[in-house]
Amino acid sequence: MSNKTSSTHLMGKIIAIANQKGGVGKTTTTINLSASLAAEGKKVLIIDADPQANATSGYGIDPRTMTSSIYECMVDGYPLDGSQVATCMPGLDLVGSRIDLAGAEIELISKPDREHVLARLLEPLRDRYDYIIIDCSPSLGLITVNALTAANSVIIPVQAEYFALEGISKLLNTIRIIKSRLNPTLEIEGFLLTMYDARLRLANQIYEELKGHFADMVFNTVIPRNIRLSEAPSHGLPALLYDAESRGATSHTLLAKEIIKKHRRVQGTSRQVSAPSAS
Ligand code: ATP
Ligand code: MG
Repeated sequence: MSNKTSSTHLMGKIIAIANQKGGVGKTTTTINLSASLAAEGKKVLIIDADPQANATSGYGIDPRTMTSSIYECMVDGYPLDGSQVATCMPGLDLVGSRIDLAGAEIELISKPDREHVLARLLEPLRDRYDYIIIDCSPSLGLITVNALTAANSVIIPVQAEYFALEGISKLLNTIRIIKSRLNPTLEIEGFLLTMYDARLRLANQIYEELKGHFADMVFNTVIPRNIRLSEAPSHGLPALLYDAESRGATSHTLLAKEIIKKHRRVQGTSRQVSAPSAS
């Protein structure tokens, strides 16, 4: 869990990876973006907020080795701090999930302030990580609402396929409601085109359509369809450790750099804005 590259003043940015449409690349983005952020020297924590536990198994983590999963933390009040396990990637920890998390939806309903459970759990960890990445399930249920309430921003993966934009307006509406009622500072980090095949006219059409709707909210980086990205999880590795030269790995490095650059620019701007005028 210790990391030699840890810096002194961390103020972790919490990013949820969400889209209630299934199989669009949420977990693949979580696994590989987190690895690339860690490779850039950042301290990173993955929260697997999906009962399918694909991010947990994708890092080859045996649930039996976890002190407590996100389920025990959210439902039984175990602290998140101490529930992290180290991954094969230096600087990257993970709080795992297991199938019980599906039952958490029901158990959380009776809790006071039930939408803020994850936000409160994450609070003490924010100064320990540069980035906390939450992998959401393909649902807009209470656990995803918790993730969006805890997050500073959301990445929306969009698969370069038929019906890619289906459901996006429902997701944006949910984000709008969460912003107005639960988390006023929630931002959209970006729309990320995944499984892109430049040879297909359809893929290009979808990219143009996304750009047309969401302009500069679409990441410049596009994630290509790449077999290494689908093979790596069965080896318990991010693509960066499975095949560092693959386009799957290099595209996530570009994405990590794009996010770090934007984050640095925003931090610079807020410092400028809040700096007292020298007079
Ligand atoms: P769910 O909604 O079930 O959580 P998801 O949105 O997390 O799904 P993934 O599990 O990341 O989606 O991806 C769905 C499938 O597509 C997986 O088998 C994954 O290996 C594959 N896949 C994802 N991205 C790519 C890619 N860029 N190239 C090739 N295969 C990919
Ligand atoms: Mg997933």
